[in-house]
Amino acid sequence: MKLKILHLYPKEMNLYGDHGNILTLVKRCEWRGIRAEVIAHEPGEPIPNDVDIIFGGGGQDSNQNTIEDDLRKIAPKLKELVEADVPTLVVCGLYQLFGAYFQTAEGHKIDGINILDLYTVAGKNRLIGNVVIDTEDFGEIVGYENHSGLTRLGQNVKPLGTISKGYGNNGDDELEGARYHNCIGTYLHGPILPKNPRLADYLIAKALERQAGKPIKLEHLNDTAENRAHKVAATRPQ
Ligand code: GLN
Repeated sequence: MKLKILHLYPKEMNLYGDHGNILTLVKRCEWRGIRAEVIAHEPGEPIPNDVDIIFGGGGQDSNQNTIEDDLRKIAPKLKELVEADVPTLVVCGLYQLFGAYFQTAEGHKIDGINILDLYTVAGKNRLIGNVVIDTEDFGEIVGYENHSGLTRLGQNVKPLGTISKGYGNNGDDELEGARYHNCIGTYLHGPILPKNPRLADYLIAKALERQAGKPIKLEHLNDTAENRAHKVAATRPQ
């Protein structure tokens, strides 16, 4: 068994430990005897057809600007992959750009690629701090947020969860993240996957299920350290 993980813009889009999500995916595959190959996508390169998991992290407004043109070029391929149920995780900066647009505090609009039905406009204050959310499919998720963007969801996405600590999408509707097919968008850095192994395993299981064409039960891993890290994060003040 082998999974190909596409890492979007690892140089430009990598904040607050986002790269740790890739390490988590690779390790949790390796611990189960599944080979994982990471393909780093940088501007100008093509997207391979046989991608099993897509990950993209956060970035400052200026870095979002830097990748905007390339993202538009690869958008049709990314859309095709997401619509074909390829498990995808996008965090903060790329979460915003998977939507319609991100309008910065200066009023500059960075175009998104309309895969997720949402849009984002910068607010006056940055939303910063530790976050705990409740989700239907993954239980409690912990993470860290730092964004100016306020995201509003449309009809074609579901939220990832509801806020029990922190701000989430916009600080007022108590929603965090978005889901569409097997694509998950979220503001949570930290990074999110090491402390939320159920979410990491969802991405891996969905990828294997697509290959096998049937439901997969992943080999159980000892998550004592991961669960301890989760607990510590959950008890931190906002
Ligand atoms: N530039 C965006 C914002 O501040 C994204 C920040 C991030 O990725 N952490 O809203």
